[in-house]
Amino acid sequence: MNDRADAVSNRAADPACLFCRIVAGEIPAARVHEDDVVIAIRDIAPRAPTHVLFLPREHIASAAELTPADGPMLGRLFGAAAAFARAEGLTDAGYRMVTNVGEWGGQTVGHLHVHLLGGRSMAWPPG
Ligand code: AMP
Ligand code: ZN
Repeated sequence: MNDRADAVSNRAADPACLFCRIVAGEIPAARVHEDDVVIAIRDIAPRAPTHVLFLPREHIASAAELTPADGPMLGRLFGAAAAFARAEGLTDAGYRMVTNVGEWGGQTVGHLHVHLLGGRSMAWPPG
């Protein structure tokens, strides 16, 4: 467990991808967590008191690209988000994790990321 070799598939970084460039440190971002597989940054346009994006270091365009081999990476990604939520004191009240896919899903950055939104009550269904 927690072995990076099990949690990455070495997809190539995309030099045109905003989040690949943030992972590489070419574009600054407010990092709140980083490990060998995952980084987390504060969303530049927060939609809730806590709004953090969890992304794999490797370039995966969206959840539509995932395969069973990505299971360990996803465990690390969601696990990091849950640990952050716990540390922020969000667990008792609850929070939302969401990943948007494609145009109708509202995806604007083509690098897989999970939004962690907390600190207020969330409506359902989303707009
Ligand atoms: P999505 O629309 O689901 O693809 O989510 C992309 C998110 O990235 C949006 O919530 C944006 O506000 C956020 N975002 C865009 N550029 C940056 C940036 N440079 N740093 C941090 N968050 C960003
Ligand atoms: Zn990328």
